[in-house]
Amino acid sequence: MTEIIRVRTTKHTSVVNITPQVRDAVRRSGVKEGLCIVYVPHTTACVFINEGADPDVVKDITYMVERLIPWSDPNYEHGEGNSAAHIRSAIIGNSRVVPVVNGDLSLGTWEAIFLAEFDGPRERKVIVKILKEE
Ligand code: ZN
Repeated sequence: MTEIIRVRTTKHTSVVNITPQVRDAVRRSGVKEGLCIVYVPHTTACVFINEGADPDVVKDITYMVERLIPWSDPNYEHGEGNSAAHIRSAIIGNSRVVPVVNGDLSLGTWEAIFLAEFDGPRERKVIVKILKEE
């Protein structure tokens, strides 16, 4: 089954914890054992999994991604002016796969699933596909 999660980001760079919505989708699917694919079909957004307990971890990740891939660079060629957002999205990646075990996401204790948008604010969608193990 497939579900679409809609996320409205509020800042130029936003990182949103979408774990509750993904977990709800898994529960609604009724799948007990399988795979959950989380995919964002947007070129300035990405999905990653990391610590959700201490919000400073996401702050530090965001800080360092922005530092490593600066917004302006004299050699960027993309005319829209948002090359940094495309590069950040490309490096982090637009999908993740989480095993479904006993009807739930098998995330670690401190893990959460995040949508990041680097050229917001924007309305974004996340495609969640839940596959049942044969
Ligand atoms: Zn662009």
